[in-house]
Amino acid sequence: MSITIDLSGRTALVTGSSQGIGAETARVLHRAGARVVLNHPDLSGGQTHEDALALLDELLALRAHSAIVRVADVSDPAAVQAMMQSIRQEWGGLDILVNNAGILRDRTIAKMTLEEWRSVLEVDLSGVFYCCKFGLEILRNGGSIVSLGSLAAKMGFHGQSNYAAAKAGVQALTRVLARECARRSIRVNAVAPGVIDTPLTAQFSDAARDRLLPSIALQRLGRPQEVAEAVLFLCSPLASYITGHVLEVDGGYLG
Ligand code: NAD
Repeated sequence: MSITIDLSGRTALVTGSSQGIGAETARVLHRAGARVVLNHPDLSGGQTHEDALALLDELLALRAHSAIVRVADVSDPAAVQAMMQSIRQEWGGLDILVNNAGILRDRTIAKMTLEEWRSVLEVDLSGVFYCCKFGLEILRNGGSIVSLGSLAAKMGFHGQSNYAAAKAGVQALTRVLARECARRSIRVNAVAPGVIDTPLTAQFSDAARDRLLPSIALQRLGRPQEVAEAVLFLCSPLASYITGHVLEVDGGYLG
């Protein structure tokens, strides 16, 4: 006998799902049977828009009427609220919310501009708050929220004051929300990836990546699918007694 995860009949929103971990999470949830709302912030019709449309085509080719795209910058509360209302109109509500959208703007505190500080806090932390706040209006009882935290929240990596503060905030918010949502049987968890091979970490130099490897027990970077499958587990009935938890997916980061 095998164990399967069946999310058919469920609707999932994955923020920031044009590429990287978000795109892979959308694929994995879709493969498990969910209908998926893809999201990206690109109003200009650029590469992000093209990537999201390519993923939309890929998913629709596998199953008709199984995916839609909603453009919204998660750091804009009005846009997030409009996105949630549009999902309610299209598909009646949500069962799964994955707060994945995130950006990096690394610089030492001495050199960091206020804009670099604010933009990371606005997208990576306030964006999660807005999506939870307005997402809860359309999330059905018994649903699930999973947010992307980070190993950076506890490591204090050089140059990541904005990002570490935002991700530590996401992980704290996860624990608060788990308590607040329990009466609706909505579980709220986070995944804290280590160093995953995505366009985000492609910004790191080869030397910086090589310096990281000795700290990782498995001696390699993670794959987006490995994070996506952890998200799938936390949204699934297999995790029915897990809430307020931060699951580290970091290949055994030893510091
Ligand atoms: P990525 O840069 O490859 O993709 C980020 C996605 O977020 C893109 O689709 C982008 O369009 C979207 N996005 C950016 N700003 C947005 C906004 N304002 N509104 C809506 N969407 C927006 O990043 P990734 O590596 O796939 O990371 C995904 C998440 O995982 C992020 O929250 C990141 O902080 C977290 N994370 C990544 C790693 C890693 O090593 N890659 C490690 C720990 C945590």
